[in-house]
Amino acid sequence: MRLRTIKLILAVMGVMTVITLVRVIAYQARCNIYRSDVSQCINNAKVVSTGLMMYVEDNDGLYPNLADQPKTRQLITPYIKNSSVYVCPVTTKPFMFASDLSQKRPRDVKSLANVIVLRDQAAHTDGFLTVGYVDGHVKLVKANQPQKTSAR
Ligand SMILES: [Zn+2]
Repeated sequence: MRLRTIKLILAVMGVMTVITLVRVIAYQARCNIYRSDVSQCINNAKVVSTGLMMYVEDNDGLYPNLADQPKTRQLITPYIKNSSVYVCPVTTKPFMFASDLSQKRPRDVKSLANVIVLRDQAAHTDGFLTVGYVDGHVKLVKANQPQKTSAR
């Protein structure tokens, strides 16, 4: 009787261990997919940022009307040849351009490395969003961190 009880307890513990292992593996797989999507978001923003810089070079050093987001994407597409990069794979929303930079020259912006030209529309599930700056660098920032979006 006592041996049966011990065997039963060991069997239950074995099943619980297997269930826990499966859950840990599934959690790690979800984390890896999320990290991969965040990396893709950063890469997408870099491609869009580079395309925008190329457009500016070909157009008298001026940004297009960035308030017209679809038109801006249309203008950049010939430079990047891949329209899927406009969308963040985490939020599935397109990047937003800083409309206050419309028809401005990037070289006239006072602090190129601090002024945002494009960013995620919404934060990722970890509270970070991808931001692209006038100088072309892209990074993840905390969504509630104050950001300079104005050219002034
Ligand atoms: Zn994103």
